[in-house]
Amino acid sequence: MANESVKIPQATAKRLPLYYRFLKNLHSSGKQRVSSAELSEAVKVDSATIRRDFSYFGALGKKGYGYNVNYLLTFFRKTLDQDELTKVALIGVGNLGTAFLNYNFLKNNNTKIEVAFDVDVNKVGSKIGEVPVFHMDDLEKVIKEHNIQVAILTVPAPAAQSIADRIVQGSVNGILNFTPARLSVPSTIRIHHIDLAVELQSLIYFLKHYPTESEKEE
Ligand code: ATP
Repeated sequence: MANESVKIPQATAKRLPLYYRFLKNLHSSGKQRVSSAELSEAVKVDSATIRRDFSYFGALGKKGYGYNVNYLLTFFRKTLDQDELTKVALIGVGNLGTAFLNYNFLKNNNTKIEVAFDVDVNKVGSKIGEVPVFHMDDLEKVIKEHNIQVAILTVPAPAAQSIADRIVQGSVNGILNFTPARLSVPSTIRIHHIDLAVELQSLIYFLKHYPTESEKEE
């Protein structure tokens, strides 16, 4: 197995879940090896990048053989902490939040939304997708009891900063922010922003200004 203290570049680390998901599917279909070309086609990452990424894991593909699927899976499972369940809290049970609660994240990785929070008393006390909804008044207490590590924010933007300030006091060390608000958090907290409207706009911009290969050929 590769040296476990090896530091993987961030860009490579971001692609790990993508590789992991694909390899798991390959494994369940009984495949034992895969070429970088096959991987490249499936995950849409060029094969030179895949080869470089995999070299960090000590996985050296053999010409005409490819990569050993089992080896890679074991490595990814370890690196991505797949053996350990990450407990997640969702804050803001609106349309988007409800969709996440109904989505089974466990299907693809070892992540589980354990608890949800809202201020709406009509939602508090209910269960959505088997996840109990608590009142915001109990935020700190419940997060501590459940040892929550990651929080997903799907509240209206103006509420996001004060909620972030509250959750970073406890066990939470990662925030996935779906609100358009840019949040300030201590440097010990990792925060990822996903603004769906911006992503959609950016896709449309690229479609207009950077036509895809097949369009260029026409
Ligand atoms: P979405 O934006 O997810 O489609 P929506 O349009 O249904 O949701 P929003 O007004 O965006 O509703 O609110 C999302 C959820 O966040 C609602 O369930 C609302 O009750 C909840 N919410 C609003 N303010 C707070 C707050 N300060 N703390 C926690 N939850 C809140």
